[in-house]
Amino acid sequence: MSNSTPVQVIRGIGASPGIVTGPVFRYEVRKIVVERRQIEDGPAELARLEAALEQARHEVHALFEQAKQDVGDAEAAVFEAHEMFLSDPDLLLLVHTAIQEQHTDAAYAWQTGTGEYADQLRSIGDEYLAARAADIEDVAQRVLRILQGIGETRAKLLEPVVIVAPDLAPSDTMLFDKAKVLAFCTELGGPTSHVAILSKALGIPAITGLGEAVSQLRSGMHVIVDGNMGEILVNPDQQTLNRYQQQADRQAQSYQEARAAAHQPAVTLDGTRVEVVANIGSPENAKEALEYGAEGVGLLRTEFLFMEREAAPSEEEQLAVYQAILTTMGTRPVVTRTLDIGGDKPAPYIKVPEEMNPFLGVRGIRLTLQHSEVGQSQLRALLRAGVGHTLKIMFPMVATSEEVQAIRQQIQLAQETLTAQGLPFAQNCEIGIMVEVPSAAIMADALAGQVDFFSIGTNDLTQYTLAIDRTNAGVASMADALHPAVLRLIRMVIEAAHAQGKWVGVCGELAGDVLAVPVLLGLGLDEFSASHRLVPLIKQAIRRYSVAESRQIATMALSLPNAAQVRQYLRGVAHS
Ligand code: PEP
Ligand code: MG
Repeated sequence: MSNSTPVQVIRGIGASPGIVTGPVFRYEVRKIVVERRQIEDGPAELARLEAALEQARHEVHALFEQAKQDVGDAEAAVFEAHEMFLSDPDLLLLVHTAIQEQHTDAAYAWQTGTGEYADQLRSIGDEYLAARAADIEDVAQRVLRILQGIGETRAKLLEPVVIVAPDLAPSDTMLFDKAKVLAFCTELGGPTSHVAILSKALGIPAITGLGEAVSQLRSGMHVIVDGNMGEILVNPDQQTLNRYQQQADRQAQSYQEARAAAHQPAVTLDGTRVEVVANIGSPENAKEALEYGAEGVGLLRTEFLFMEREAAPSEEEQLAVYQAILTTMGTRPVVTRTLDIGGDKPAPYIKVPEEMNPFLGVRGIRLTLQHSEVGQSQLRALLRAGVGHTLKIMFPMVATSEEVQAIRQQIQLAQETLTAQGLPFAQNCEIGIMVEVPSAAIMADALAGQVDFFSIGTNDLTQYTLAIDRTNAGVASMADALHPAVLRLIRMVIEAAHAQGKWVGVCGELAGDVLAVPVLLGLGLDEFSASHRLVPLIKQAIRRYSVAESRQIATMALSLPNAAQVRQYLRGVAHS
């Protein structure tokens, strides 16, 4: 290491925060490709295939259990899908026919069958189905490996390393010994890719979308990974290392202090108490939320109950899960969002026509209003689970007041059905909407009279306001919710709601960004809802400002011309 060589910086998307330093471990799974062999004994080959499939089912099930334990049901669901592919009757028919009728060996028949299946899904041109094609390829390689007699490529990590890979399938991510993973860095992927979601849940820094520059990184090279900024510093000199190490130490120290005070309320310097709650996606998350000092749940994403399965969950199944979460939270508020799928994330049992622009299509509330049987069973389950708790129900992707009227009718219908059935249900639960479509923000004064609260979904609000697809790695890094256009919409929403005595939360990622805290406080935000590990930090940041000072900071931020300048300004504020 010398002080004279300039430190090279590779930039990507900060997908999970934190600073670490250590050696690179290049992880590339070599793809198994087999040649066709002619076989004589069809039944024996079929038996060989079945044995390999059975072993694969065992392996995948073990990964599912491990993922459930490490990161929760929602993230583990992908392995359930893998298990389903291993028993998919259409796929197996294709492979069996090749073995029996064309006397093809099991490995080649499996490779061809799964390849055709994945190609078919890709040709539809839908991002969600393309991701499922990648899942099929993942599971296809597992079976080929077993058929070839190759042991599981469990990457043996001998020391703590920074994993660098082209992309990481969920099964790759789960294979590593997490105690030895300092960070995950991938060439591909956006802020919502699997590795980003898993890393956040595990508290491991991650950078995605680094592009071709990662090919310069070799195993053993020393790097600094700054997950906050989305930067890798290659072969840093001692001075840079010291600087980052100090920064990492300061952050670790500050986080410890934040955790020590996590169970205290978040009160500004001039005495305003602000609610800090958590975003959760499973019953396990609810327990973690409490450990990290969350005062309730600001966003329960219910999709985990509906995705990666062949039929919708029954009302009773939903009831049990909602009750488990509400029981964990006692009488703390639990803002539950109704099903937010469709478009880019369809459930196989809900038919949505093929769409050119899934994010502008039949998503969220549009889908549940079209499929009211799904919406009704969820509403009934929620209302029943809410008895004795502080349940609040929230609807995603609302764009118009007609939709709010339709929602009101749906709630009334669910209440009437439950009354007719003689089932007890929560009587006075608050009803709110997510504000994540610009029309809802602009019309907030009209919508405020129809609801009890707003929760601003800055992830989608940013994507729709700036016309940046949040899943597209080519543009996703520009989707910064601190853009003044988004902040001005947030101001409109809060002013409109407060004028009518309604409360406003933010449940998009912006609520977990400590830099944004004084701006949101200054705009008068009532509730911050962030990923559980960030709750202590947000509370800590709130305690550093007065509302009066925050108002000035917000006014300044909203007057700046772009997100970069807002970030720069807020960094200055945070360090002053
Ligand atoms: C949002 O859009 O900000 C949000 C919280 O919802 P999701 O990320 O689930 O779309
Ligand atoms: Mg959203």
